Amino acid sequence: MTEIYLDRFRARYASRAHGMNASEIRALFAVANRPEVVSLAGGMPYTAALDYHALAEVTQAVIRDAGPAAMQYGEGQGLPALRQQLTEVMAAEGVRAQADDLVVTTGGQQALDLVAKLFCDPGDVVLAEGPSYVGALGAFASYQAEVVHVAMDDEGMDPVALEAALQRLAAAGRSAKFLYTIPNHQNPAGSSMSVQRREQVVALAESHDLLVVEDNPYGLLDFKGELRPALRSLAPDRVLYVGTLSKILSPGLRIGWVAAAEPVRDKLVLLKEAADLCQSNLTQHVAERWFATQPWLRQIEVFRDVYRRRCTALLDELAASFPPGCSWTAPTGGLFVWVRLPDGVDARQLLPKALSARVAYVPGAGFYADGSGAAELRLSFCFPPADRIREGVRRLAEVLHEEVELMDAIFGDRR
Ligand code: PMP
Repeated sequence: MTEIYLDRFRARYASRAHGMNASEIRALFAVANRPEVVSLAGGMPYTAALDYHALAEVTQAVIRDAGPAAMQYGEGQGLPALRQQLTEVMAAEGVRAQADDLVVTTGGQQALDLVAKLFCDPGDVVLAEGPSYVGALGAFASYQAEVVHVAMDDEGMDPVALEAALQRLAAAGRSAKFLYTIPNHQNPAGSSMSVQRREQVVALAESHDLLVVEDNPYGLLDFKGELRPALRSLAPDRVLYVGTLSKILSPGLRIGWVAAAEPVRDKLVLLKEAADLCQSNLTQHVAERWFATQPWLRQIEVFRDVYRRRCTALLDELAASFPPGCSWTAPTGGLFVWVRLPDGVDARQLLPKALSARVAYVPGAGFYADGSGAAELRLSFCFPPADRIREGVRRLAEVLHEEVELMDAIFGDRR
């Protein structure tokens, strides 16, 4: 394409569009999806584990019994009967909500987009764990918000670091529009916020008058079925809760939701209607019937068991084959393990070598808004079976051993 042709459009883009670029690793993912490559990269739920017999019955019943309604436009806030069922899903995690508090969205992703659209002007600050969910970072960036990261470790976000960030902002005469956090089995780090830290984070939010956006796709995917209190259950008036059916049922349905205080909820409904009028009524009906008629918690247990076995395979093989100097998180649920490489190894530069060795991962830098994370990477254990996961980790370990040897040969002790 000629420059003149490109400029015709470029010169007219809104300023927010200029910073939006496809990451350079996207091109490499075409390779990652080849069958000979073990992909530890994508976060695709293992939808083959769904009960398709039940799903077919549910879908057929919707078409048969409620066809004209399901094929019609729906309410901007979402199907009331589905919102009622979603409060049951929240109740399974100990969070109390009314159907009227909820706005149904196109996955949790649209919920994050609408929340950012509601609160963020260009230059506004959003606090988020470092690393954080790449889709949220993208949504915040598209409204030109500035993400300030808060350090996290195996117990989730560090409240001391949060307080320091709040004080730094205050000293600069600034404040954060909200704190975005994924307290359970975080994407990408795999760790969960301890109960004590939840209380500390909420106390800080109260004392600094900070809004919190709690994103919780993975809470019900705890391998032992353990639950930690949702931030929303600790401070309902201060926390916007984002849920999704993507990991406990299907991302193909594209159903997420926000639970928010009434004035925020009303604005979100207006934003939702401005974006796409309403959620797909068909998938809302299917989801509603699924929760109303199926043993949905049992389906979640099926997912949990699959992921627990695959996570064990991944962690065992990491321990058996990764070189010294690497460390990683030990998730108790969710889909992801976060790996730290020896100093000086750049996960982005290493990716082409890994792909040649037929294994894919996601380099860590994409999960930070501030350019850090070069020596970190995310591995997911949700999609390939356990033996393929082990094979993938062995392939990656070989690449890493070679890289470390090469670096030792070049830099020796100076590394
Ligand atoms: N939040 C987090 C933390 C996620 O990991 C994801 C998907 N991977 C989403 C939100 C959005 O998912 P969806 O739009 O499918 O609900």
